[in-house]
Amino acid sequence: MVDFVGAGPGAVDLITVRGRELIGAADCIIYAGSLVNPKLLACAREDCLVYDSSGMHLEEVLGVMERMEAEGRNTVRLHTGDPSLYGAVREQMDALRARGIPFRICPGVSSFCGAAAALEAEYTLPGVSQSVIITRLEGRTAVPERERLHLLAQHGATMVLFLSSGMADRVQEELLRGAYTRDTPCAVVYRATWKDEKVIRGTVGELCKLVTDHGIRKTALIVVGDVLGGSYELSRLYDRYFTTEYREGEQPHGSDTLWDTEERDDETGKSTGDASGENASALSVRYRRAEDRHGAAHPDSGDGGD
Ligand code: SAH
Repeated sequence: MVDFVGAGPGAVDLITVRGRELIGAADCIIYAGSLVNPKLLACAREDCLVYDSSGMHLEEVLGVMERMEAEGRNTVRLHTGDPSLYGAVREQMDALRARGIPFRICPGVSSFCGAAAALEAEYTLPGVSQSVIITRLEGRTAVPERERLHLLAQHGATMVLFLSSGMADRVQEELLRGAYTRDTPCAVVYRATWKDEKVIRGTVGELCKLVTDHGIRKTALIVVGDVLGGSYELSRLYDRYFTTEYREGEQPHGSDTLWDTEERDDETGKSTGDASGENASALSVRYRRAEDRHGAAHPDSGDGGD
C-alpha cells in the first residue's frame, strides 16, 4: 500500500491528524525534501526507511514503492501542501495502478491556504471576487495556450500564482495586460507558515520591485486581487434579515429593499443533493415565505456558504 500524504505548507503542526498517523505507521517514507518540513519525520518509527525524492527520478521513486510492496511493507509518499496541486502525483498513481499496487490519498493544507492565513485574507469577498484562479507562469513546464496568464488575468478575480516568484517581471507584465491595474493590491508570501515566513504587500505596479528588493526567488506565492484591498460588501449569509436553510431572517423594518432577490436565491438554496424529501418541503416553505415578502424567487442549487 502506498499513501500519498499532503504534508501541509510547512509548519509541522499543519499536517492532518490522519497524515501524522500514517507517517507514524510507515515502513518507508519518500518525502519531497525540497519543500516538506523534515521535522515531520520525527514522528516516524525508528526503523522506517526514509528517502528524499528531490534527488530521485520517477522510476527510482516507483522502484522503492515496488520493492516495499513486494516485501509486504507500506510506503508514505509525502508531498508538500496538498498533493493535488503541482504535485506530480498523477503519474505516480497511474504507474502504481499499472503495477497493481494499491494506493490512497490523504489531503493536506495547501500553501495557498497557508498564505491566506498569513495575509489574514478572505479570497472570496462579496462584491469583489467570488473565484480564485490558481495558476502559474509558464517556465520550463509549459502552460496551455488558453491559460496564458494575461488571458486568465482578464477576469480580475483573486489569483494565486505558484512557482512564479522567480519570474516576477513577466508576472507583472502579464497581469497588467489583463484586468488588473498598477494599483491593484498584491502580496508575496514567502514560506507561508514556516518560522521565517515573510509577507510583503504592495500593488501590481510594484510587484517586480518588491520581489527583487526582498531577494525572493522561490517558495513563495504571489496573491493578486482587490480582496486584498479595503472595500467589500457584507455577506448575505450572516445578514440578520436574510433567510437561510438554518435561520429565519428578521422582518425588515421600514423600506425593505435590503437585498436583491437574485442573489438571495443563491444562498437560500441548499445543495441539490439535499433538496429532496423532508428538507425539500422545509426549503420550499422558506422559499415561499421569501417570495411572499420579496417577490419572485426560484429555488436554485447553492450551498448556503461557509
Ligand atoms: N502542492 C503544493 C504546491 C507544490 S508546487 C501546495 O499545495 O502548496 C511548489 C510551489 O508551491 C512553490 O514554488 C511555491 O510557489 C509554493 N509553495 C509551497 N509551499 C509554500 C509555502 N510554505 N509558502 C509559499 N509558497 C509555497
